[in-house]
Amino acid sequence: MNIIEIRDLTIQFPLRNGTITAANHVDFDIPEGKITGLVGESGSGKSTMASAILRVVTSPGKITSGSIIYNGYDAKDNVKKDILKFNNAELQRFRWKEVAMVFQAAQNALNPVVRIDEQIIETVQEHVDMSREEILKKASDLLDYVRLEPERILKSYPHELSGGMKQRVMIAFSLLLDPKFLILDEPTTALDVITQDYIFDILTKIHKERGITMLLQTHDIAVVAKVADRIGVMYAGEVVEVGDIYEVFEDPKHPYTIGLIHAAPSLIDDLGKRTPIKGSPPNLLNLPSGCPFHPRCPFAKPVCKEVKPTTTVLGEDHIVKCHSYNNERYKKEGLLA
Ligand code: SF4
Ligand code: MG
Repeated sequence: MNIIEIRDLTIQFPLRNGTITAANHVDFDIPEGKITGLVGESGSGKSTMASAILRVVTSPGKITSGSIIYNGYDAKDNVKKDILKFNNAELQRFRWKEVAMVFQAAQNALNPVVRIDEQIIETVQEHVDMSREEILKKASDLLDYVRLEPERILKSYPHELSGGMKQRVMIAFSLLLDPKFLILDEPTTALDVITQDYIFDILTKIHKERGITMLLQTHDIAVVAKVADRIGVMYAGEVVEVGDIYEVFEDPKHPYTIGLIHAAPSLIDDLGKRTPIKGSPPNLLNLPSGCPFHPRCPFAKPVCKEVKPTTTVLGEDHIVKCHSYNNERYKKEGLLA
C-alpha cells in the first residue's frame, strides 16, 4: 500500500522575472514501510515536494494542480484523503501525529538560550495534552534510542552539543508523537562523513524496529544507495526515474540517473573512471524545450529538443521518462560497462 500518492502535482513560484515550476505535473508514490530516496541536484524540486506534503509551501509558491492522497489513517477515521483539502484540524493532526520532518541543519532550529528539556516540553505541550513527566520519560527513552545520554542531554543548552548530537536530538524529537511517516530532507548534509554514517545507522535502525515509512531527500546518490529501498530521481521539477534500489543501480535507465551514478566518488571505486555530468543545472526561469535534460544528455536525439518525454512503465515499480531509455544502446556507445 502507498502511504502517499502524489498525482499531477504542479507547484509554481511566480517571480518578478518569470515563473519557476518547482514541481511539474509530478506523479510519485511512497509505499508504506519502505525507505524511498529522492535524489536530485539542488533546485530540482525535492524540498518543494516535501513542503507540499506538509502543506507549508512558502509564498509566493502556489500549488496549481494535483492531489496528494494520504492513506495512513486508521480505517475508522479518514481512510484516504487529499492532504491539499485537509481542514485546519486535520492538518494539525497530520503534521503532529502522522508525519514528522527532519531537515538539513535542523539542529539550528533549537533555541540557543533554552535548555533541551524545556524546549521539548514546551513544543510538545503546544500540540498535545501530555504532562511534563510523561514527556520527559518519553524523551529520555528516545534519546537513549538515538544513542545519547538522556540525563546529560536534557540538561544541556544547544551550544554544549556537537552538530551530530543536535541532529540526533532532532531525530529523537521527530519521534515523540510516534509518526507513521518521516521526511528527511538532507538530514546529514552539514555533518562530517563519520557522523553521517552514524546517523544513517540510527535511521535504519528506527526504520527497521518501528516500521516507519521514510522519504529521504538528498543530493547525494551514494547516501540513497546505502540506506534506501527504492529511489526516485528528480530533474528540473520532474521525477524522471523511479525504481527498486537494486534494479536502478544494476540497470539505470535514465541518462541523468546514469550520470549521477557515474559521478558519485564512493560508488565508482576507480576514481579515474569517475565522470561528472557535463554542463550545469538548468536555469529554472528558462527551461530547455522538450526534455529539460537534453543540453547535458550524451544520448540526446533531435526529438529530445522538440518533445517532452512521457512516462514509460518498465516494471512493477520502475518508471522512466526518456525517449531512448534502452541501455543496450548506451552500452554499444561505450557509456556503460
Ligand atoms: Fe536524453 Fe533524450 Fe532521454 Fe532526455 S529524452 S534524457 S535528452 S535521451
Ligand atoms: Mg533542498
